[in-house]
Amino acid sequence: MRFFVGLMGNWLAIEPFLATGTVDAFVMEENCSPPAIDQYAEKYQVALVSVSTIIGVPGTEHEMPYYPQKAEEMADKCIHIAIENFKKRHGKIKPMVPRHVQKAIAGFSTEAVLNAIGNDLQNLVDVIVKGQLKGIVALANCSTLRNGPQDWNTVNLAKQLIKRDILVVAGGCGNHGLEVAGMCNLDAIDQAGDGLKAVCSALKIPPVLSFGTCTDTGRISMLVTALADYLDADISDLPIAVTAPEWMEQKATIDGIFAVAYGAFTHLSPTPFITGAPKLVKLLTEDVESLTGGKVALGDDPVEVAEKIESHIMKKRKAMGL
Ligand code: SF4
Repeated sequence: MRFFVGLMGNWLAIEPFLATGTVDAFVMEENCSPPAIDQYAEKYQVALVSVSTIIGVPGTEHEMPYYPQKAEEMADKCIHIAIENFKKRHGKIKPMVPRHVQKAIAGFSTEAVLNAIGNDLQNLVDVIVKGQLKGIVALANCSTLRNGPQDWNTVNLAKQLIKRDILVVAGGCGNHGLEVAGMCNLDAIDQAGDGLKAVCSALKIPPVLSFGTCTDTGRISMLVTALADYLDADISDLPIAVTAPEWMEQKATIDGIFAVAYGAFTHLSPTPFITGAPKLVKLLTEDVESLTGGKVALGDDPVEVAEKIESHIMKKRKAMGL
């Protein structure tokens, strides 16, 4: 029996994953579980298990509200459910696993990034000052089909950013799209601009750092806060930006609002459903900058968005005398 705990696919990848016919039990602990998953569960004989009270997916046979003190017992139950289901479905469902394999270096925490730069933020500051690294973009994001094919905006924007010597730190479902696209391994260094290429080659890190899920966004901000504290600067002074090129879910909305309040230039695509409220649009795209230093930027074209982000980063670099 094999277990995998971690980020191995985004929410749009769940259905094809079940269609491989290899899954005995699928345990859901996030509200981003596709609502029509029961049809796959029925066809491929998967036992659906929910460990959160906020999941209301039809066809969920096993519901276990999560209590941290019962985690071990709950894990045992999930294993038992999978074993029992394996006995029922074995021999009836033919597994079909795609042969394509992609490598990814994942799990960059604040500590791992600091470790990669020798636990000395001055090393990061030095490459920013030299211009080898123009700036850093946090890409925290879902995956949607509303502004193009799955992960198309996310992958193409990341490609444009690294080409411009901007390091991408990624979280959320979009992060997994970047892993699948081969942006989170050392081969991707070849796609970076000359400055970033030199930095990544020296540190042996990919130009897109895979942090984890969307709920790890707060941890990305810890890294940026550490940099701001080190430089004794405000967040809004730094050559950084945030992007959510395929936001979809309410957690992503919260991340976006957090980023603006945090003081970051925050790109969102598709355009949020607020254009019927002109005062709110003005507040988020213009006026809020004088309050927090952050603001919302819009745009659905990866090249144009990358240009906007680069120009914001260059403006901040100039203001810092770089
Ligand atoms: S909020 Fe978005 S990034 Fe987070 S799990 Fe849901 S779909 Fe994925």
